[in-house]
Amino acid sequence: MVRKERLFYYATDEEIKQGDTADIYLFRTKEILERKGLAEKRVVVEVTTGELAGGVPWGVLCGVGEVARLLEGVPVNVYCMREGTIFHARDHNGIRAPVIVIEGAFSKFVLYDTSMLGLICQASGIATRTARIRKVIGHDKLLLSFGIRRMHPAIAPLIDYAAYIGTADGVSGVAGGRLIGIEPSGTIPHTLVLLFYDAFGSQVDAWKAFDEIMPPEVPRVALCDTLYDEKIESLMAAESLGKRLSMVRLDTIGSRRGNMPDIVREVRRELDIRGYNHVQIMVSGGLNEESVKELAHLADGFGIGTYISNSPTTDFSFDIVEIEGKPITKRGKVSGKKQLFRCMNCYVDLAVSFNESPTCPVCNGKMEPLLLPLIKNGKVVGKLSTPRETREYVYKQLEKIAL
Ligand SMILES: [Zn+2]
Repeated sequence: MVRKERLFYYATDEEIKQGDTADIYLFRTKEILERKGLAEKRVVVEVTTGELAGGVPWGVLCGVGEVARLLEGVPVNVYCMREGTIFHARDHNGIRAPVIVIEGAFSKFVLYDTSMLGLICQASGIATRTARIRKVIGHDKLLLSFGIRRMHPAIAPLIDYAAYIGTADGVSGVAGGRLIGIEPSGTIPHTLVLLFYDAFGSQVDAWKAFDEIMPPEVPRVALCDTLYDEKIESLMAAESLGKRLSMVRLDTIGSRRGNMPDIVREVRRELDIRGYNHVQIMVSGGLNEESVKELAHLADGFGIGTYISNSPTTDFSFDIVEIEGKPITKRGKVSGKKQLFRCMNCYVDLAVSFNESPTCPVCNGKMEPLLLPLIKNGKVVGKLSTPRETREYVYKQLEKIAL
């Protein structure tokens, strides 16, 4: 028998495109506008945020490709920052900085308010946190996203994608890896170590079985904290796999943690004096920006879980700033259609009207527009970069900004 009901609680592509994921008040607004002859009123809507979660100074915009697919076929013009652009909540003068501008008859796109914000708020939050971790650890360290198990599986690919855009080197999810176009990354779970210890009396058998069965391109990373001290298990792994061991992973549970930087220092020293300098050290388990700071110069790899997958959203909002060419907006917002210009030397932004050509208030240099045509009358006209290109773009920008 074919089951008609859905097994899991998520909206399909069709439901999202037809507005089923919209708040009901948007349907009511659309109906009232249509019945009262205001359906064709042309407006300009700005998407901005007043402040970034945690008060951090910048974010990474993520979700532009999905916004393009959401609004494709809707009779609107959309100007948007490129996917992966580092943005500030406000410009040099404190004006909220638009990341997206939409123009068209309001009733034709009002239903997409909820879903469009949802597409960029969550993804940008994840990309932002991942990029901050990257900024802390530096460019040459391994950063893996491991946190999809703490979120609904329907959005696992989205979480992995956003973490990758935020410059994670790898992601744990199979579906996420497929979406991005990379091989997923993973090590060994504690469960495998326990089953081998139970069956054969040693955790070494688990690492050896992994080495025996996995194809050569899979890095040999031994999980070294399941039963004994990290230092002892790391040496056992190095002695059993020798040159083939690329990394040990220390996933030390909170109750045993004491001083994690000291544990990593000890493991490093014990490996080095026995000639296992090639064995790198990965840390994972409950890491956040603060704890990563303490470990950044000691460990070679970082597996970040919930801190990335459960990133706070970037609270973008959707506001009318112009109706039929006339500047108007609600209290607390600044009216008028605005382009966001950036000085690429200083990373200073100015939100001024589209036809201005401002110069940088800091260096007097040229400024470039960040809001580029994404959709023209329902047709996607913007270039959408591949995940790899977008990640490179984020990397380059991270070199120019402070944490
Ligand atoms: Zn400048």
